[in-house]
Amino acid sequence: MIKSLKAQHSLLSDAREQIEIIEHGANGEFALIPFQQKLETSNLYPLKPLQIGIFQINIGKMCNQTCRHCHVDAGPDRKEIMTKETMIQCLEVLRQHPQLQTVDLTGGAPEMNPNFRWFAEEIKKLDRHVIVRCNLTIIRANKKYYDLPQFYKQHHIEVVSSLPFYTQNRTDRQRGDGVFADSIKALQMLNEAGFGMEGTGLILNLVYNPAGAFLPPSQATLESEYKEALMVKYGIHFNNLFAITNLPISRYLDYLITTNNYEAYMEKLVNAYNPTAAANVMCRNTISIGWDGHLYDCDFNQMLELKVTSDAKHIKDFKLDQLQARNIIVGQHCYGCTAGAGSSCGGAVA
Ligand code: SF4
Ligand code: SF4
Repeated sequence: MIKSLKAQHSLLSDAREQIEIIEHGANGEFALIPFQQKLETSNLYPLKPLQIGIFQINIGKMCNQTCRHCHVDAGPDRKEIMTKETMIQCLEVLRQHPQLQTVDLTGGAPEMNPNFRWFAEEIKKLDRHVIVRCNLTIIRANKKYYDLPQFYKQHHIEVVSSLPFYTQNRTDRQRGDGVFADSIKALQMLNEAGFGMEGTGLILNLVYNPAGAFLPPSQATLESEYKEALMVKYGIHFNNLFAITNLPISRYLDYLITTNNYEAYMEKLVNAYNPTAAANVMCRNTISIGWDGHLYDCDFNQMLELKVTSDAKHIKDFKLDQLQARNIIVGQHCYGCTAGAGSSCGGAVA
C-alpha cells in the first residue's frame, strides 16, 4: 500500500501564467529561438496534421497518486471527470470515423472514472485498438480494482504503465513512498494474466521519464537495462520501454523553477532540436479530448488550455476534415517533443 500521498499540486494553476513563463522564463527576460522559427528552418511551419488516426481521451484528472512531475496535476482530490454523456459523444464520433483506429485512454488514473469499464467495452465493440495508461498502483489500491488485469485481458486492451526506474529509490522519489513495491506487485499480476508474456498477444509497455532536469538516455539501452533488472530481481516480463522527455509544464515546470533549472533545461532542449523528431511529433496523427469534451492538439496543449484552431472545438461538433486542415498550435514547450530522439506517448519518434 502507498504510505504517503502528500497533496502536491502545481503552484502554477493558471495556464496563461505557465505559458508566459514557458515563453519568457520566470523573470520575463529569458529569450530562446522561438520554436516556430526552428520549424520554419525544417520546412514544417505551420505544423500540419498527417493522417489523424488516434483519439487520446483524458477521462478525468482524479488519480490515486500525486507524482512530482505530473503534467496533468492529477491527484485524489481532483474533481474533473468525463461524464457518460461526453463518452457517448466520443463513441458517436468513433462510430462515424472508422479511420480513428486507436483509442488511448488516459487520466489521472482512468480506472477511477466510474464509467471507465463501460466506456472501454463500448469502444471495443466498435472494433478499435484500446490503450490504457494504467499507473499500476491503482490495481493494488482497492479490492474493486484487483481484477483489472482480467478485465484488460478479456477485452484485449494494451497496457502502458509508468515505471520511472527499475529501483525503489528513484521511483518512490518521483511517485511517492511505496509506489515501487506496489508497482512491482501489479506488474506480476499483469504477467500472471499473460501481459508482456511471449505468445499471448497481450501487450504491456513501460514508460521511463527522467527524475531530474536532464534528457532521457537511449531508449534501446534503457530497455535492455530494465528488462534485465526487472527479470533478475522480480521475474517480470514486458514488451517495450518508452523513454519520454519531461515537458516544461505544470508540476515539472514548478520543479524546474524552484530548483533554478528552468533556463538550463530549456537550453538543453533547444540545443538538442532534431528535425526528424519534429516531423514525427504525435500531434500530427492524434487528437486529444479533454475530460469536458474539448479538443486539443495533444495532452500538453490540453493542460495549457490551448484548444484546437479549427471552428469545431468540442467533441459534440467534431469535424474531421476541419481538424485535418488545421494548423497545430506550437510554443516553446514543444521543444520537449523534438529533443534528441524525440518524445511522444509512444516514446522516441526519431
Ligand atoms: S500516476 Fe500519472 S496521472 Fe497520476 S499523478 Fe502520477 S503522473 Fe499524474
Ligand atoms: S507539445 Fe503537443 S503540439 Fe507541441 S510538438 Fe508536442 S505534441 Fe505537438
